Amino acid sequence: MWRIPDPPANETERVAALVACNILDTPREERFDRLSWLAQRFYGADLAFIGFINADTQWLKSVTSSAIGVSIERRSSICQLIVASGEPLVVSDLRTDERFEGHPALPQLSLRFYAGVPLIVPPGLVIGSLCIMRHEPGVPEGFDIRVLQKLAAIAVDEIELRSLNFDLTRLTRIDALTGLGNRRCFDEEIERARLRCQRMGTPLTLMMADIDQFKELNDLAGHRSGDEVLRRIGAIFASVPLRPDDVAVRYGGEEFAFIVSGIGASDAVGIAERILETVQAAGLQHPTRGALTLSVGIASQPGNDIDIEQLLSEADAALYEAKRSGRNRIVASDSQWRGPPAAPQSLAQPKA
Ligand code: GH3
Ligand code: MG
Ligand code: MG
Repeated sequence: MWRIPDPPANETERVAALVACNILDTPREERFDRLSWLAQRFYGADLAFIGFINADTQWLKSVTSSAIGVSIERRSSICQLIVASGEPLVVSDLRTDERFEGHPALPQLSLRFYAGVPLIVPPGLVIGSLCIMRHEPGVPEGFDIRVLQKLAAIAVDEIELRSLNFDLTRLTRIDALTGLGNRRCFDEEIERARLRCQRMGTPLTLMMADIDQFKELNDLAGHRSGDEVLRRIGAIFASVPLRPDDVAVRYGGEEFAFIVSGIGASDAVGIAERILETVQAAGLQHPTRGALTLSVGIASQPGNDIDIEQLLSEADAALYEAKRSGRNRIVASDSQWRGPPAAPQSLAQPKA
């Protein structure tokens, strides 16, 4: 009888190790595709894949057939048995094996033979599996699981190499002045957010914030003061309470961007209001405006079909509208703009 196995005792560390690999929701890579290809060819299989299992999903980094979706609910994953036991799993016939009787996904599946081995990262955490499947039931003659285990070991080496590379490239994604992510970081993160939101069917929201009349501040107070203001604003963006998937970056010059997954424009307006209030509370000064202020443009798209170029141009248009209509305000692209946040009397009101 099919029974969802309990997660392993080290589930929390296991998921943390997987997240630390920074591999979930990343595009296909030849280094993994070649391993699944080799596995399929070597075993004369009809399908091979490399999958990672997080708290609730099995996500396939590499799969030899485009007919298979890259994301499966963990509760109907066969590979979760490997994660639970930490051991290889060979099933001669999924259709007749009593462990899979009543499994919700199997009636639609024409594949019957299954063999999978764990992907184990130090210190012995199973983050996923490398598997092969065949339409024909029965363990093939001369079947030797050790080849699959060797390929899995290469996959783990690749994951580790990738992580080291990731650490190096992370340095190239940081803006030196503010310590926030830079434009390169933005380009990569928005693509990841797009994939994640589309997979989960949740909205992707982009907030662009630009300091008001910053050139004047530079011209009148000096470039060094300008830099200091950028650092202070950067620190405010870095301190906005972010959920793990949200990303704040210095998009360029005196423009900051905030990528928010899973909430729509109206909730993002609330976050933007908090940011503007924090800027106001910081008491930063502008030589002609009094208080230093920001204008914010927000755009959002539902999770089913996200177009990044369009999202960017809508956020840009909203920001432009915030500037045009007087600065120190938030405009969401659904045109429900909010006026300037209530400013204490001592702070200057925005210029018309
Ligand atoms: P608006 O309210 O329309 O945004 O006007 P603005 O003056 O802020 O906009 P504009 O784009 O004309 O000026 C941006 C200025 O930001 C010009 C540029 O010199 C300055 N800037 C860009 N990067 C840096 C930086 O790293 N340090 C300093 N101090 N200034 C910078
Ligand atoms: Mg500006
Ligand atoms: Mg600007």
